[in-house]
Amino acid sequence: MENGHQPRANKSITESDHEDLGFRFEHSYSELPSLFFSKAEAELFPAPRLTIFNEALAKDLNLDFSQLPPDEIAKIFTGQSLPVGAKPLAQAYAGHQYGGFTILGDGRALLLGEHRTKNGELFDIQFKGSGITPYSRRGDGRAALGPMLREYIISEAMWYLNIPTTRSLAVATTGENVYRERPLPGAVLTRVASSHIRVGTFQFAAYRRDHLALRKLADYTISRHYPEISNHDDKYLELFRQVAERQAVLIAKWLGVGFVHGVMNTDNTSIAGETIDYGPCAFMNHYHPDTVFSSIDHHGRYCFANQTAIAQWNLVRFAEALLPLIDKQQEKAVDIMTAEVNRLPGIFEKRRLDLMRSKLGLKSAKTTDEDLIYDLLKVMETTKLDYTNTWRDLPTTRIDTNPSYQVAEFKQWYQRWIQRLSQDGETLESARLRMNQVNPYIIPRNHYVEAALSAADVNNDLRPLRRLVSALSQPAIENQDFKDLREPPPEDQACYKTFCGT
Ligand code: AMP
Ligand code: MG
Repeated sequence: MENGHQPRANKSITESDHEDLGFRFEHSYSELPSLFFSKAEAELFPAPRLTIFNEALAKDLNLDFSQLPPDEIAKIFTGQSLPVGAKPLAQAYAGHQYGGFTILGDGRALLLGEHRTKNGELFDIQFKGSGITPYSRRGDGRAALGPMLREYIISEAMWYLNIPTTRSLAVATTGENVYRERPLPGAVLTRVASSHIRVGTFQFAAYRRDHLALRKLADYTISRHYPEISNHDDKYLELFRQVAERQAVLIAKWLGVGFVHGVMNTDNTSIAGETIDYGPCAFMNHYHPDTVFSSIDHHGRYCFANQTAIAQWNLVRFAEALLPLIDKQQEKAVDIMTAEVNRLPGIFEKRRLDLMRSKLGLKSAKTTDEDLIYDLLKVMETTKLDYTNTWRDLPTTRIDTNPSYQVAEFKQWYQRWIQRLSQDGETLESARLRMNQVNPYIIPRNHYVEAALSAADVNNDLRPLRRLVSALSQPAIENQDFKDLREPPPEDQACYKTFCGT
């Protein structure tokens, strides 16, 4: 592909001769019909420099960069020197963005291939911010350092919170500025994902009315993510059910930690059920169901409590895209999928209740639990309690000492909860260990994320970021060294806004 603007990296630098990095690339996605991708290459960047490299993830992936000087690593992670076996391409997809359908595609990303680990797992290795592609539309194909480090921090935090997510292997600066409201250092993030197949990938094939391509995509998705259903009589229907189930699990987990994704478009809905595309996402401090951080989400479409409904809305778009595979007779296909879609609220609610019960340390399920959960959330809302800290504090003596909890509504609710625990034969001590696994001590609070980013961006000082990432890698543990990171922001900083298109 030639775009006429920038020389392509591979014109001057070909494949890296570092055979021993451990990449074992496969290219199964590129065997799909050609409408699903375009070959593309990274642009040439003047002065790549490695900002951060995820040693732990590299080890998990059986990659070894220890013999390589940082400059060489930086060339690899900006696409200037391709690892052996990489064959970069940009993926095509469509998506409903804020409810409106658009044809999209990787406008600033490149898939290098799928890396096979020694224990047989397959992961997409993708650059984000490596230059324009055939799908860039009016975008510049680039990314700024701050947002890429932000994705690094939050995706790693999600991973350690035990929430399905893409991960971040490295961030490297390119040596050139990107122009947003002001010039910012350009950077490339290397993202690792189970795959980048989205609801929008299916929508793209359906929109093109290419039913053969749609079937091939569905078969590929089944073999890659749901091989256990490949011999199922109604495997495409089963695919829908499996994807729905994973979305229900994912959203419940988001709700459990106060995560607001911020841009739940169908192109950002992973078929593998991972959290993907960390744009304007952020974690809630004090509880409010309408919490929104994204500066462009004026109507709160993607607010905290709407995420369940939006995930279901996205799944309805998935169901529509699958219709041609469900039955030759459209009416019959619609009837079948309508029945499936009608089951979604129940599936999502069950997952949410299960998770909330575990946050309360409950082992059994009682019909009154729903009220108990709802009433706690209501007290948190009216008394502006910090979401993360309240859950964590429940089984501790902090409940007696912290002034925030010395209000009548909370105390009444607390007594009900203690009684409910005793119905399960539980004490605070016995519940605490289990509760601590699902009620984190540390989350990536916005004001600390911003402080870490600004130190990295403005002063080139990565120490706060490294400290934050290190704290986030053990979120369940009450490490006194990281006690400060538990503090909600001062009231005057509480009105946090995030931005898209970064
Ligand atoms: P996102 O909001 O990151 O999910 O992006 C939505 C779409 O816009 C995707 O197709 C992206 O590839 C594309 N996009 C976002 N930023 C840029 C950019 N700077 N240049 C080109 N395309 C972009
Ligand atoms: Mg996206």
